[in-house]
Amino acid sequence: MVSVGPSGELCEKISEISGQNPFLCMQCGTCSASCTGIGVMDLLPRQVVRMVQLGRREALACRSIWVCSSCLACTTRCPRGIDIARLMEALRAINLRRGHEVLSPERIPAALLTEVPQMAVTCAFRKLSA
Ligand code: SF4
Ligand code: SF4
Repeated sequence: MVSVGPSGELCEKISEISGQNPFLCMQCGTCSASCTGIGVMDLLPRQVVRMVQLGRREALACRSIWVCSSCLACTTRCPRGIDIARLMEALRAINLRRGHEVLSPERIPAALLTEVPQMAVTCAFRKLSA
């Protein structure tokens, strides 16, 4: 069980899992401007990084971390060399280690399983299930 308490603990845990230093971010917004998933996100990637810097738990509860496709557009353009995709992944990992998943097998309608490609289902479970 991953414990994430107040203050800087969230940021510390994210740094540990991702190997990235969120405090390098200068809030330039290049990641947000580059993001391919921005249309379905509730927080801009820049805002997610800021939440992490501040140790705010909103970063763990936002939709953006789940819809991030790890396309790396943000990562390749960040002027500070931050791998934002890894930060997003670390936020998902903390949720999943706590059992907070967004896709549980029993909630998928059986009829859908006959229509969706098996590879898509496998990928979804790897990313979204605890
Ligand atoms: S591109 Fe990098 S430095 Fe700029 S806001 Fe995003 S994470 Fe921060
Ligand atoms: S890796 Fe995620 S946050 Fe970065 S540009 Fe792609 S979808 Fe957006």
